[in-house]
Amino acid sequence: MTETAIPSPDESRAAIADLRLDARLFIDGEFREAADGARFGTVNPATGEQLAEVAKGSAADVDAAVAAARRAADDGRWSRRNPADRKQILVRWADLIEASGREIGLIETLDAGKPITDTVGLDVPETANCIRWHAEAADKLYGQVAPAPEGVVATITREPLGVVGAVIPWNYPAQMAAWKLGPALATGNTVVIKPASTTSLSLLRIAELGREAGIPDGVLNVVTGPGDVVGEAMGRHPGIDGLAFTGSTEVGRHFLTWSAESNLKRVLLELGGKSPQLVFPDVTDFASMAANAAIAIFWNMGENCSAGSRLLVHRSVKDQVLEALKAELEQWPVGDPLDPATRIGAMINRSHMEKVLDHIELGMGEGARVITGGEQILRDTGGFFIPPTILDNVRNDMRVAQEEIFGPVLSVIEFETEEEAVRLANDTVYGLAASLYTRDLNVAHRVARDLRAGVVGVNAYAEGDMTTPFGGYKLSGFGGHDKSVHAHDQYTETKTTWIQLAPRT
Ligand code: NDP
Repeated sequence: MTETAIPSPDESRAAIADLRLDARLFIDGEFREAADGARFGTVNPATGEQLAEVAKGSAADVDAAVAAARRAADDGRWSRRNPADRKQILVRWADLIEASGREIGLIETLDAGKPITDTVGLDVPETANCIRWHAEAADKLYGQVAPAPEGVVATITREPLGVVGAVIPWNYPAQMAAWKLGPALATGNTVVIKPASTTSLSLLRIAELGREAGIPDGVLNVVTGPGDVVGEAMGRHPGIDGLAFTGSTEVGRHFLTWSAESNLKRVLLELGGKSPQLVFPDVTDFASMAANAAIAIFWNMGENCSAGSRLLVHRSVKDQVLEALKAELEQWPVGDPLDPATRIGAMINRSHMEKVLDHIELGMGEGARVITGGEQILRDTGGFFIPPTILDNVRNDMRVAQEEIFGPVLSVIEFETEEEAVRLANDTVYGLAASLYTRDLNVAHRVARDLRAGVVGVNAYAEGDMTTPFGGYKLSGFGGHDKSVHAHDQYTETKTTWIQLAPRT
């Protein structure tokens, strides 16, 4: 992986002047307007100004995309291709994405308000890394031969589902696309993917690079447009064999219903969270703990499904923990996402910012005390900025401790015993991630085992890497995992072939 230098604000501004944003649908290898010619405007959340006019797809466009994907699935132009060729094309695609790191990172920063240091330095490299990782597995995963009786050869092989639909969120637009596209394409599927309406642009550029890398027409199709139109049409479509969704639990439930009411397409859901971070009394390196805890909740403005939004702290160390967190936050400047020093950019849009601010008010009404942050700042920019906010005196039964806020808001809750900490941590409808801080290996193993969460970090905020699966328990997920070879399973069917051999004559 080559490292891309983060552009200076002047370099970014010069690049913006040269940006070519194609905001049309990408179907059957070409850009085109929506069937009815409709478009919708998107806004740069750091300035409040209009950024682009994006094609507003409809059910007719979903039909066209699914038809293209179906043709490509049926004629085997991708699924029957030598896996080594598929690998080569996808690796080339990853290389092109990496080489366009500054351009794609800049697009995401403008579209989503994310700091340029994160988009260019993390999101785009991770997007390329994800596609490359799955691509490289394409010609390395074997089927099985079953221990069948004499005279029989029984093989167990994996075949692509066919046409995969993907509906993805706005918080990590390119990365979430890669988490679906990498394994779905590596295993030979064709794909129709819908980005979030607020953040369609990076995926369209990535799809264009896919064509340049040699992905055949019809194999990768992008339909932009509103979730309740394009997303629902995909969820109900009889021509889609599997649908992978990342977003809210509420919308995730709809996809299960639509699957049940249509063709029983396989549904994979990666949903919300209210993840706990547990700090035990034997912690001594408060600075390191606070640095990790801050990343867990404030990274990406807290717009992160695995955000560690509940800090469960042993009463005896709470003061040290809060002091360390306040000191850590001095290293988290909020502001212009184009400034490489910025660590907290803008919230995705005005209505989401208002929802987060309402939650802060709600918490105060419930008895919480704001010890830092709590209000919109930088209003004169026209953008939607909320600084890191810490709410003290929270009880786990308050709404701020139970509802996903999806913003830079940390609720601090005290505990006295290990049992109480585990009980509070698990007292949530979600179960995506958790972190715990202790120097005692016994506590670490006991508590990690007791936590009802799909990803547990010990002495770190950790989601693992491409080699480890990502997904949640309870209302945080359903049907499978993103990343690792586990993701390959979910985009494939299992086939048994039972071959009866004639006896030797
Ligand atoms: P949504 O679940 O509403 O959106 C995610 C995706 O689903 C987007 O592509 C969206 O399209 C689409 N969608 C929206 N409504 C429908 C629908 N009725 N039928 C089919 N598809 C639909 O999440 P939001 O972006 O609105 O965020 C709301 C909450 O979701 C957040 O506060 C957070 O709790 C959670 N969330 C979780 C994420 C995660 O990573 N797990 C990521 C983002 C959000 P469109 O953009 O056009 O509406």
